[in-house]
Amino acid sequence: MRRWLKEYIRYISRVFLPKGWLEWAKDRRAAPEISPGTIWLTLLMGFSFQVGSLEELHRRGRQSFRKLLPGGQRPPSADTLGYSLKRADLGGIKQLFVAVMQKVRRSRMVGWVGNLRVVAMDGTGLYSSESRCCSQCQQVAHGGGRVEYRHEAVYCQTVGPEPRVFWGVEPVGPGEGEQTAALRLVAWLWQAFKHFADVVVVDAGYAKAKFINAVRGLGIHLVIRLKDERMHLVQDARGLYGTGEPSAHWTEKQGGYETQVKVWDEEGFQSWDGVEEPLRVVRIVEERSGRKIRGGPGQAVVEQREILVATTLSKQQSKAEAIREIIHRRWEIENSGFHEVKGNWHLEHCYVHQEVAIEAVLWLMLLAINLFWLFLYRNRRSFVGSDYSEREVAEWLRNELVFSKATFWRYFWDTS
Ligand SMILES: [Zn+2]
Repeated sequence: MRRWLKEYIRYISRVFLPKGWLEWAKDRRAAPEISPGTIWLTLLMGFSFQVGSLEELHRRGRQSFRKLLPGGQRPPSADTLGYSLKRADLGGIKQLFVAVMQKVRRSRMVGWVGNLRVVAMDGTGLYSSESRCCSQCQQVAHGGGRVEYRHEAVYCQTVGPEPRVFWGVEPVGPGEGEQTAALRLVAWLWQAFKHFADVVVVDAGYAKAKFINAVRGLGIHLVIRLKDERMHLVQDARGLYGTGEPSAHWTEKQGGYETQVKVWDEEGFQSWDGVEEPLRVVRIVEERSGRKIRGGPGQAVVEQREILVATTLSKQQSKAEAIREIIHRRWEIENSGFHEVKGNWHLEHCYVHQEVAIEAVLWLMLLAINLFWLFLYRNRRSFVGSDYSEREVAEWLRNELVFSKATFWRYFWDTS
C-alpha cells in the first residue's frame, strides 16, 4: 500500500479546486446544522474513495471523515446527505465542475489524437426500477401493466491517451430521445468551454442530421461510425468501393502480429438526408495475422474487421490513418473505460432517487473521477506502468484516512 492520501488532497486543492470553493456550496435546507460545504466535501471525497452508497458513506464518515473537517464539525449522516442532495443547488455544482475543467484545459493536461482534441458523445442507461419513480423518470410500459422507471444520460468524454476526463453530462428527460439531450449537452459545453473540442466522435445510430448540423454550426468536426447497412450513405459507399482497389494499404508489425490495413477514402457523399454538407466516407479493413503463443506451439491467427466511418474532416485536414486512430481510441473507452466507471465508481448505483439528487450526484461523481484520474495519470508517475488498478488506489486512500494519525482539513478549509 502506498500513502498517497495527503498527495491526492494537496494536488487537487492546489492545482484544480478554486479558492474558497466550499463557500460556493448551497442548498435549500432551512438553518442547516451541517454546512453545504461539508456536504460537498464529504461527497467529493466519498466518491473519490469509490464509496458505494450513502449508508456506507455515513459509516465511513463517522469513522474517519472528521480528519477532513475543521474542529467541532461532524460528518453528515446518510439522511442529511440525502436531504441536502434533494435540495442541492445544481448551478453551484456545475460552476465548480466548470472552474476545475477550465484549469484542466488551460494547463493542457488532456491528451490529443494527433493534432486534434477529440471527445466522444454517447448515451447510456444509469439505472431502472419498478418500484421507485420521480418526475424525471422515463416510463417504459411492459406487458401485463408492468411499468419500468428508467434513467439515462448522455456523456461527453475525452478520446485519446489517459486521463480520459469527462466534460459534461445531460440526463435524458421523460418522453424525449437521446438526440434532444445530446443537443442540450452540446449547447451547454459551448457555453461553458466555447470550442470544447476539434472533433466529436459518435455512433450513427445516435447522430441524426439535426445533431450533425448543430455541431458543424459551431465549427466542430464529426467522426461518425456507420453500422446500419440500410443507410443510403452506407449503400452508396459500398456501391462505389465495391470490389475496387483500395486508395492506400500498408502493413503494421506489433507484438508478434502483423496487420494488413486497406483504406478506401472518398469525399463528396451527399446521400445522408438532411445533412447540410457533403461527407467523406472512409472504409478501413484490417487483417491481423501472427503467432499467438499460449504455452504450446505457435498457431497462426487471422482476424479481420471492417470500420466504416463518415466524417466532415477533409482528406487535407486529416489523413485516413488519423481517422482510424480516433476510432481505435474510441474503442478503448467502450471496451474498458465505461465498464470501469460503471463498476468501480458505482455510476449505476442510485444513491437517492429524486430528480435533483440524481443530477447532483452525477456531476459531483464525474468531478471526483476526473480529479482522481488527473492525480493518477498526471501526478503519480509510479502508477502509470504499474500493475495496480484504480480500485486498489481508491482502497488505499480510504483506508489511509481511517488509520492515519494526521488531519487533512487544512488543505480544504481556509480558517485564516
Ligand atoms: Zn426517477
